[in-house]
Amino acid sequence: MNWALGPAGTAMIGAWLHHRPVLAFDFDGTLAPIVAEPAAAAMADTTSALLRRLALRQPCVVISGRSRVDVGLRLAGIPVSEVIGNHGSEPWLDPEPLRRWTGQAILFLRTHLARLAGVELEDKGISLSVHYRRAFARAAVITAVQQAARCLSAGALIRGKYVINLLPPTALDKGQALLRMMGQLAQTHAIYVGDDATDEHAFTLGRRHGILGIRVGHRRGSQAALYLKQQSEIDRLLTLLGNG
Ligand SMILES: [Mg+2]
Repeated sequence: MNWALGPAGTAMIGAWLHHRPVLAFDFDGTLAPIVAEPAAAAMADTTSALLRRLALRQPCVVISGRSRVDVGLRLAGIPVSEVIGNHGSEPWLDPEPLRRWTGQAILFLRTHLARLAGVELEDKGISLSVHYRRAFARAAVITAVQQAARCLSAGALIRGKYVINLLPPTALDKGQALLRMMGQLAQTHAIYVGDDATDEHAFTLGRRHGILGIRVGHRRGSQAALYLKQQSEIDRLLTLLGNG
């Protein structure tokens, strides 16, 4: 993994920019800093202005674990080509079967996790999140959710920072979403920036699919080719992407 803003990183990004790539970004922890209260997450004004400038010139997409409506509101006024929600499923999949699964899963989890304090279930329409930042017995929560996910035949169980996302069996992941987006925009290359476990689905596609992955935060074992040291470097990256 090379630092995206160092000589090797900027050279690699420069080479990618020649292909006019789709520029794809995760939201929380990538465009916006992680905050204690997820509802309060927002981009810095400088980031917002840089993304807006970029989106006017190049195809930009945001792929978030939030619902599409939720993340769309946080991008108000920025002309991105597409907002993709729920880890990749929105807007492409028929939401009805996914909603049915999610509704049943919430009822099941409410019972299954009832004895564990400090757990919050978030119905995201076509997927759900178990938040356990406030839980005392965090390890027990993780085990219980893993058991429940098996009972529910969940499609993917994605762990974030004090959150576990459960996706329906037929849900798309961020990598599948990015490939669809590239197809739709008729682009052979993409740069994908993300900070979390769900973003590895896009990173892992790698160069054979024309994707240059940039992880926010260095992590051994990540499939991203490049990294930013911290979220606050996003403005420098957006500036670099805009200069290509
Ligand atoms: Mg994130």
